Amino acid sequence: MTSKLEEAKVFWSDDGTPRSALFDDVYFSPEDGVAETLHVFLAGNGLPDRFRERERFVIGELGFGTGLNFLVAWHEWLKVRSAGAQLHFVSFERFPLRRDAIETALARWPELGSLVRELLAHYPPAVPGFHRLLFDGGRVALTLVFGDAREELPELEAQVDAWFFDGFAPSKNPELWTAELCHAVARSSAPDATVATFSSARVVKDGLSGAGFSIERCPGYGRKREMLRGVKGGEGRKRTVPKSRPKVAVIGGGIAGTQVAYAFARRGCNVVLVEQHAEPAQEASGNLGGIIMGYAARRASSLSRLQSAGFLFSLRQLQELRSTGFDVPGARCGVLHLACNERVSRLVAALEEMEYPPEFLARKSAEEAGALAGVSLPCEALWYPEAGWVSPVEYCKALLAAAGCAVQYNQRVDALQHNGEKWSLSDEQGRGIDDAELVIVACAYHAKQFPMCKELPLRRLRGQVAHVRATEVTAQLRTVLCHDGYMLPAESGVHLVGATFDRAGTSTELISDQEQELLRKLKQGLPVFSGEPLEAVGGRAAFRTTTPDHLPLVGLLSGSVGLGVSLGHGSRGLVTAGLASEILAAEALGEPQPVSAGLRRALSPQRFAETSPRRDA
Ligand code: SAM
Repeated sequence: MTSKLEEAKVFWSDDGTPRSALFDDVYFSPEDGVAETLHVFLAGNGLPDRFRERERFVIGELGFGTGLNFLVAWHEWLKVRSAGAQLHFVSFERFPLRRDAIETALARWPELGSLVRELLAHYPPAVPGFHRLLFDGGRVALTLVFGDAREELPELEAQVDAWFFDGFAPSKNPELWTAELCHAVARSSAPDATVATFSSARVVKDGLSGAGFSIERCPGYGRKREMLRGVKGGEGRKRTVPKSRPKVAVIGGGIAGTQVAYAFARRGCNVVLVEQHAEPAQEASGNLGGIIMGYAARRASSLSRLQSAGFLFSLRQLQELRSTGFDVPGARCGVLHLACNERVSRLVAALEEMEYPPEFLARKSAEEAGALAGVSLPCEALWYPEAGWVSPVEYCKALLAAAGCAVQYNQRVDALQHNGEKWSLSDEQGRGIDDAELVIVACAYHAKQFPMCKELPLRRLRGQVAHVRATEVTAQLRTVLCHDGYMLPAESGVHLVGATFDRAGTSTELISDQEQELLRKLKQGLPVFSGEPLEAVGGRAAFRTTTPDHLPLVGLLSGSVGLGVSLGHGSRGLVTAGLASEILAAEALGEPQPVSAGLRRALSPQRFAETSPRRDA
């Protein structure tokens, strides 16, 4: 039974300190929250001095609250960090605060102002699960896990260097201080990890000692006489040495490949991307527009977690690309998913029991939906207010430009060979293209040509879209509409209308029957357009690459050294490929994972090769 995410109930003491109505306790010391964080959590863990010891430092926290500890740690790290250093902060929160509460709580420290603004600009809606937020060009990574730490901490794959134990007082919030949780903390710790907490309660001391930390009492902050700090006994375990920055070759210049190139390049790796066409995004990622939206499910599944977290990740990434000067055409115009079939109708009806906040997903009546869309609609709908569409081609180009990596166009990789140290990439004539310590295959179905990828269960699924000239009526459309197909608002007088699913199709030639089918479905699904003279002025066909369970294949291949894949994103690469690249980079470079262990297993390229356990085993 999973514990539900709940919104924090914050009220303010007379002195302006935020307090929790659920726990009847303060989020931080009424005397001075920053001074308390510096004393208890930073100094208690030997910080900021220890930041200088390693290029990558990982902090883990129980209780994100207002984010004050995160911001103070970031602020202190900035003062001592070396070029190329990276700060990872992983924090768990079951009762997320709203943005406005965080803003009010932190307003008293103008010195943190710019970091607070950054946090608020990236802060996700209260969607359960892992969220990866990147700041400062990716040098600071916050993995914010919305959920009960007791359930989510065992899902963390990380080697934490310093822990901040910051639940409410153990007497008020006992579930955050249990012996089991201390053991889970120990399991995600580097061998020489440290821990610090404001509490000096016996139960905390015993829990942490029992999990292998040598704990001592020391002077607390303000009115608190004592606090606890401790070090994990190494027990002879060796720290997994973070891998240095390998040279990376990425095969494929669609959304999967350009995202991989971006993720590794911003970590300081020397990246080369090899693409067989003359430009990026010429195959499945080449449509005029692509929808970027979350995914609702009555019960959380790997698919819903990946697509929700991936959608939010890509939204933040687009926001960052645009704010740093990259023009990625598109609009955050919202997406309406009409309840025109049973699956969506059931979802709409069940929405209230589901855990989605209204800024992520809401239910709209036919009238409300019509008012949002600008055209009248036949039925109620799911409303994704932050969603919209982007130009996939321009998105890929922006990622490559921001990555600043080398790109070899018009170059088809035909063979991959490992010489014990490196991979060499060569063309059909056996001419060398480049070499690299790490190769990521991100060329969709073409991956099957490499013997190491031959067995991956990838399928091709042809899809055709139509470019439909806007009429006076259709031009009123302001949002993306999903029905049995989808329609984008007009751009330069043309709507993108999609898409067919054609298992048998083998050619990218346009098929006029399919064009007619798209127009017929559009008129059927949206009666307001049924009398319109809809005319396709063009179209496009391409192949999506799918997998049997509709989840992409993401990760390093177990049979080969330094070979990974990001494949099978289907028609959802715009929302899954960015997060997939963070997963790959974390795996290859030994960083904390941005998703739960369960989700990573569900994406593993090995998952189909593993024999399922016998029932009677
Ligand atoms: N570190 C925070 C800051 O800088 O503002 C203050 C944390 S506050 C003292 C304790 C936090 O623990 C609260 O935000 C509370 O909602 C969270 N919490 C309590 N029980 C939890 C649980 N079971 N799982 C995850 N978070 C929990």
